[in-house]
Formats: sequence, C-alpha cells, structure tokens
Amino acid sequence: MEQGCPPQPDTHLTHPAQCSTIISVTTPAKHAPILLVHGGAWAIPADAAAAHQSGVRSALEAGHAILSRGGSALDAVEAAVTVLEDDPTFDAGRGSFLTSDGRVQLDALLMDGGRMKAGGVACVERLRNPIKAARLVLEKSPHVYFVGSGAEQFAHSHGMALIDNAELVLDRERQRLAQAKARHAAGLADLSFTGQALQDDKDPETGVPSDGPSSLGWETGVPSDGSLSLGRKTAFQPDPGLLDDQRPDSAAPGGLGGSPQDAASDPGQFWWKDNSSSKGWSHDTVGAVALDARGNLAAATSTGGTLNKTPGRVGDSSLIGCGCYADNLSAAVSLTGWGEPIMKLVLGKWATDRVAAGSAPEIAAREAISYLYNRLGGHGGIILLGPDGRFGLAHNTPAMAWGLATPSGLQTGLSV
Ligand code: ASP
Repeated sequence: MEQGCPPQPDTHLTHPAQCSTIISVTTPAKHAPILLVHGGAWAIPADAAAAHQSGVRSALEAGHAILSRGGSALDAVEAAVTVLEDDPTFDAGRGSFLTSDGRVQLDALLMDGGRMKAGGVACVERLRNPIKAARLVLEKSPHVYFVGSGAEQFAHSHGMALIDNAELVLDRERQRLAQAKARHAAGLADLSFTGQALQDDKDPETGVPSDGPSSLGWETGVPSDGSLSLGRKTAFQPDPGLLDDQRPDSAAPGGLGGSPQDAASDPGQFWWKDNSSSKGWSHDTVGAVALDARGNLAAATSTGGTLNKTPGRVGDSSLIGCGCYADNLSAAVSLTGWGEPIMKLVLGKWATDRVAAGSAPEIAAREAISYLYNRLGGHGGIILLGPDGRFGLAHNTPAMAWGLATPSGLQTGLSV
C-alpha cells in the first residue's frame, strides 16, 4: 500500500512534488507506533462483554502487525476496522443494526493525516467492507465521498464484489428491530441516549427538554472548578436513580490517556451504574486511530448507524471532521455515539483543533465529551491520538469497548 507523507511540522502546505520526493526516501523510524481502536460507546450487555473484548483484541493484532513491521498508519487503521466489520459483534459490516425497512446500510470514512487525503462512503448496502471502499475512494478518486449505488459502483469498478444485502442481515438484528418497533408503537422508546431527539431534534439544541428534567440516563458532570465549562453547564440534569451513589460531585467523563510510555495511567472515574442488562443491547460503531514509525497519523470509522434509522439517514461516523478526522499537524480521532449531536458540533475536528492548540489529547478527549453533553445532551465516546504519541479516550455512556497497542504490548477494556 502507498505510504503517506512524513509529518510537515512547519507548514500546512505540502507540494505534491515535494511529497513524492520525500516518499521515495527511506525515512528512519523515529516514532513508537501506536494503535487505538474502539468498538462503540453504549451499553454493552454482560453476555456480550467477552465478544467485544476479543473482537477489539483481534483488530489490535491486525493493525499492530502492520505497524510493527514498519507499515503505514493508514494500512493499520484499515486493517483493524476491517476485522471489526467482519465481526458480527459490532455495528459495522455484517451484523449491523437494521434500517426501519429491515436492511443494512453502511457508512465509513478513512483519513490519512500525512497526505491529507480522505475517502468516505455512505448508505452502501452491497459491500461487505465499506472501509475498503473508503480506501479506494481515498486512493483512486479525486473526490472524497460517494453515496449509495454510486459508491457501490465505484467500489465494484475497482474490484470489490457486490453482495446481496441479505448476507449482511442477522436474525438477531431482525429481532432487535421488531422489538424496537414494538416499543415505539407502545410509546416506550428507550430515550436513555437519544433524549428527545427522536421526538423533536430541537430540544437538545435548546438544552431544555420539553418535559422537564431529562430522562437521559447518564451525564458527564462538570468539575466543580469549572475547568470543563464549555457551553451550558446545567442544561441536562441526570436522573438521580440512574447514577451510582458513589459518583463524585465533580466527576468528569470517564477518560483515559497518556503517552506510549504511560499506557496504563490513571484509569479515571468509572461511575456509571451498569444497567446494561436491562437494555439488553449494544450499539457498536467501530473505529481506529494510529501513528506509524514515520510519524504519520490516520483515522478510520465504520458503522451500520442507529437501530431503526430511516433509510438514507447518515450519521456522524463517515462525515469528515465529525466522527473521523486525521491531520499530522493536529491529531487523529474516531468517535462513536448518538450521531446527530456529534455532527452538529463537528466534534472530531473540534477535538483535533484543541490538540493543535496545545491541549493534551487526554484532556481534549474529556472536554469533547463534556462539550457534547453540555451543549446538546449528546452521548458517545472518543479516541484521540496526537502526533507525539500522546492519546486520550473518553465516553459518557455506560461502556466503550477499546484497545491500545504500543511497542510494550496490547491492552483492551470495556470502559475507561
Ligand atoms: N455514531 C453512529 C451513528 O450515529 C452510531 C454509533 O456510533 O454507534 O450512526
């Protein structure tokens, strides 16, 4: 696979001719390669925990193998996400949530922070691995984004097989869809994470749910010193019954971060009351960010979107700067969670800009999730990796499957 440009610390402008000259030179390995992956931020039922951990580990192994033999960050994130798309545990590829008309519709984006190239596809129904189609868009097209049958035809013209959508649909998901429709019909839709959005998408924007205190199950909290004072502080009140009694008043979103040398640093506060068994489902977009030995960053995100989504709906995952972004001059990021608020805040770019402005990724990740909640009542998770190898993970959902590969080893977890 093609190797991206080395990082250009002094300028945003890299002339293509300069770039290709640099590519032909063997750059000595200077950076400890790092790969971070996520398998979605939501409620992960206890009986799905092991599958999430092992899926994330397999993805890490695939990507880490590429990085440790000197491969590119772009190849590593593509390989990691391909493994997760192939694993029906996750809401990506086969086994994804179904649209309201019972089909799988997939979105994916891949970005190379060295060459500043991106490729995305959305609403594809006949591709087993949309992240591979996104790679083809990145490499083979002057365009950045294709949708629907145009995306499928583009991928097919570059060698990808077109499959029957039924091959992507699991009975498990047919049952989930039927249950979701029944709950909606009975007025019992689960609004733990979507708040009022399914009813009236304006409510989260105003920050004042129309029916008084939100029934949202989990909130990020705001430190008492106001250090995460981003937007409205008090708009969304947690349902006290859903919070762990031990939660400190000043709790920030669960977060983890550090440097390659400090991979097991402060695990952060985990203060959700785990009611995932009562939810009985999970919501598992996948993503990866990587830094390779040459100092190039890359990011990839792939999703089947949200359960019972209207056909044609596109979430944040594949939108550049929303659920995925990478630039060697700032950071690489992949997000997961309730897509509409993430899109409105262009949250991926927001987070990478903070790293470019000097924030540690660990802090920027937590701030991004606080901003998501405090501004729009959104819920989700983030993995964020800087060009110096420092990273951050955060989520305000009960769980987020994650994995980290550094030269010193592999780690996985279901919360931070
Ligand atoms: N962000 C995705 C979407 O809204 C869903 C997810 O991350 O689970 O489509």
